[in-house]
Amino acid sequence: MQPVDTLLLGPLVLTMDAEERILETGAVAVRDGVIVAVGTRADLEGVTAAETIDAAGKLLMPGLVNVHTHLGDSLFRSLVEELPLEAWLERLWISEREFVSRESVELGARLSMAEMIRGGTTCALDMFWFPEAAADAALGAGFRLVTGPIFFDFDGPDGLAVERRIAAGERWLERYAAEPLITPCVQPHNALTVSPEGLRAARDLADRAGALFHTHCSETATEVRQTTERFGHTPVAHLDELGTLDDHTVLAHCVHLVDDDFARLRRSGAAVLHNPLSNLKLGSGIAPVARLLEEGIPVAIGTDGPVSSNDLDMWTAMRFAGLLQRGVHMDPMLTPAREVVRMATTVGAEALGLGEQVGRLAEGYRADLILIDLARPHLMPMYDVYGHLVYTVGRDDVRSVMVDGRWVMRDRTLETIDEATVLAEMEQLAAEIEHHAARLEPA
Ligand SMILES: [Zn+2]
Repeated sequence: MQPVDTLLLGPLVLTMDAEERILETGAVAVRDGVIVAVGTRADLEGVTAAETIDAAGKLLMPGLVNVHTHLGDSLFRSLVEELPLEAWLERLWISEREFVSRESVELGARLSMAEMIRGGTTCALDMFWFPEAAADAALGAGFRLVTGPIFFDFDGPDGLAVERRIAAGERWLERYAAEPLITPCVQPHNALTVSPEGLRAARDLADRAGALFHTHCSETATEVRQTTERFGHTPVAHLDELGTLDDHTVLAHCVHLVDDDFARLRRSGAAVLHNPLSNLKLGSGIAPVARLLEEGIPVAIGTDGPVSSNDLDMWTAMRFAGLLQRGVHMDPMLTPAREVVRMATTVGAEALGLGEQVGRLAEGYRADLILIDLARPHLMPMYDVYGHLVYTVGRDDVRSVMVDGRWVMRDRTLETIDEATVLAEMEQLAAEIEHHAARLEPA
């Protein structure tokens, strides 16, 4: 074999490949950002590498894919609490209007990426104002991001009037089309904040650009009731009737579904983005994940934004995704741990249209991978690796993280984000946000 850039020798390798092989004493070789070999230590020991890493005692697996979040919302973490979704959004939008700018969103995105990288997430789907700010932050941090133009029927803090959003979106998609770390998507907020014409126009834009279509759907009972009153259909049926559902569609939440919704989801090939912590914290309900899986509808896992969940910890999200269905249905056989790990890796990547590129450790895949330290009291012993990942491992157990062949965290030190500066800048801005919020409170 030709020399490689990075050779990882000796870890327990969870490949999540087509056979879901687990290699007890494995090895992975990376060249030019691509995984060029996955095998046993004995297979690859002789390979010449610019960097050889002794990874014995570690677990090597694909990086986690967080399929639904709002990265810039880290600016407002814990600012709005104890309100139902609709009132909570109204309150949040007051602060967003005041403080959301191209610069602040980039700061919030960098903060969020630092948090995600520290926790072993290597790819995320982000919906927020100024998506170019998050995209540029991702390019700077070497982070894989799915994002793109957002749609609302009102002028937002970006100053874009609704009729200008399509043309601006078109320019956005062209601008980032050639960036390998950026996967474009088109993102109307939901069926109540975007008119049927707006949803159709956004769908057409996504189709013209070959981009993913991402929206919130059936998050709360109130949203379902209001959508049904206004349009005569549930949110799923409404989106379906408008021709916006297909296998390039991802729907965040899907908490409240009727039988007909399941049938429409199944027929369309759309994927559901499950955000258990956000749904619980906002009292939205519990998504029918067991039934979705039983019906063969793809379900991937997200954290939602840092104001609703209130962090970007995929391990906690995985644990809740596993636990909730068992408790609700009183059945410990539901949502097997292996299925939950798939939801956070391969299924997440497939939902985002990246199933041929990331989510597995296999030859030809981009090198998005994480090393987990197993030599810790709470991880010893380990008889069931999938059960460990869902019910025991936490984000502080992640030692090193690689995205597209480049180390973004090595031995707990971030390599591509100046963490101290990001934290200092955030602290300063948070003081202003808090001061403004205090003035809003009734005396
Ligand atoms: Zn959301």
